[in-house]
Amino acid sequence: MTGVSPTAPAGRTAAVGDSASAACAAASGHPGSADGRFVIHLPIVARDLRAALNVAVALARSLAFVPQLDIGETTVSGEDLQSVRHRVFCDRALLAGRRCGARQGHDGPCGTESGPT
Ligand SMILES: [Zn+2]
Repeated sequence: MTGVSPTAPAGRTAAVGDSASAACAAASGHPGSADGRFVIHLPIVARDLRAALNVAVALARSLAFVPQLDIGETTVSGEDLQSVRHRVFCDRALLAGRRCGARQGHDGPCGTESGPT
């Protein structure tokens, strides 16, 4: 065994959840982890922005049971322009710590559509 996962990209020897990798990141103050949070980028492709937004809504809502998922922060970008993000949900703050779960740019008042917390 080489220690490299068969699905790991070339040159990678550590897998997500690898204790050595996590310890290294924690000890080094890895950029982007100042608050102790890391974001998982799980590429899912679609043929255009509208399709990508629709798939994002479906996936985010279907995964709402995952406590680590921050559904309101779901965004979509072009593959070659990932710094330009399109918000999927309104996510405006509501009473009692709730967030608006309607789609970005929705009609009507916030909070009328059930969705992410
Ligand atoms: Zn809203």
